[in-house]
Amino acid sequence: MILVLVETDGSGVIEVSRETLTFARSLAEADGAGDLDAVTVGDLTDTARDQLAAYGVRTVYRVAGEAFTAFAGAAWAAGVQEARRRAGSTLVVAAGTPRGGEVLAHVAAREGVSMAANVLSFSEVTPLVVTRQVVGGAALEEMRLERQPAVLTVAGHAVEPRPAPAAGAADVVDCTPEVSEADLVARVVSTDAPEPDLSGGLRSARVVVGAGRGAGGADGFGDLLELTELLGGALGVSRVVTSLGWRPHHEQVGQTGSRIAPDLYIPCGISGAIQHWAGCSSAKNILAINTDADAPMVTKATYAVIGDLHEVVPAINAEIRRRTAG
Ligand code: FAD
Repeated sequence: MILVLVETDGSGVIEVSRETLTFARSLAEADGAGDLDAVTVGDLTDTARDQLAAYGVRTVYRVAGEAFTAFAGAAWAAGVQEARRRAGSTLVVAAGTPRGGEVLAHVAAREGVSMAANVLSFSEVTPLVVTRQVVGGAALEEMRLERQPAVLTVAGHAVEPRPAPAAGAADVVDCTPEVSEADLVARVVSTDAPEPDLSGGLRSARVVVGAGRGAGGADGFGDLLELTELLGGALGVSRVVTSLGWRPHHEQVGQTGSRIAPDLYIPCGISGAIQHWAGCSSAKNILAINTDADAPMVTKATYAVIGDLHEVVPAINAEIRRRTAG
């Protein structure tokens, strides 16, 4: 039986947790385990509960209490352990978010069980064999978990979030685990007012136009922005571009930016360093525009145009305008 640690925000279950529920459901179906349970920490809104039902969750273990008003990884782990014990789960799965990774690392250490982080897929269920990302997504490893109980985190955007064919009951069971002082030694004591999530459009865009150092300067983005608009997409940039202050950080793609999975990514003047690749390797098609035919981005791309982006991009824009005119 599988238990999923689900993270929520004001508007319900966060997207990566819905992806993780989808991953866990396919794992439960493959090993005949069937039932899928969830554990949440803190308030559980009606919207979040409805979403959990839609994703096929049988029982929601709601961990609440004074100890859970602020985030403390070890306290959350105590909550997950209590839910796991009551659900009788042998596998606990969480999204590979900072919190998901921290909490499950505590669970693994406290229970002395194996952990696989940043899992993308599984190929066998008994024993469980998974493929996971390492080095920021630049390399893949196959990992065999000989024994369960075990815990694993699922890399963001590894699977498409899909509700279950049949809804689950999502019966709510309250959990108030014992939390020791030691569990609260490291806890969040203040949080800056959250910035609006300006990268939301970038992360969900079906088309992303990328721009790197090849743009040449802060005033070199006019044609790239026009292409973005003509395709109804979003602009994504490399770290060089944000470090030089040419574009804002929320547009950055990569290990320290957003991870994107569009149908089409058009990186223009981007070399394809591993830290950038970590954020765009899930794109279904890549059309690279670069002056260097040997740039890593060009060699990994589905299609490439070798040329100066300041000539190629205006030509593409003109052709799109010509074809869509009238
Ligand atoms: P460059 O590597 O300088 O490449 C420029 C490319 O543009 C070249 O391929 C060149 O041939 C081409 N070019 C030049 N002029 C033109 C033109 N006129 N027309 C067409 N092509 C042209 N980087 C990220 O992007 N995202 C991250 O999240 C990220 N995180 C990092 C985290 C760490 C810890 C570290 C150490 C680095 C990180 N980086 C990240 C930086 C990364 O290593 C690279 O330095 C960066 O991605 C390079 O950006 P670039 O491709 O724009 O520039």
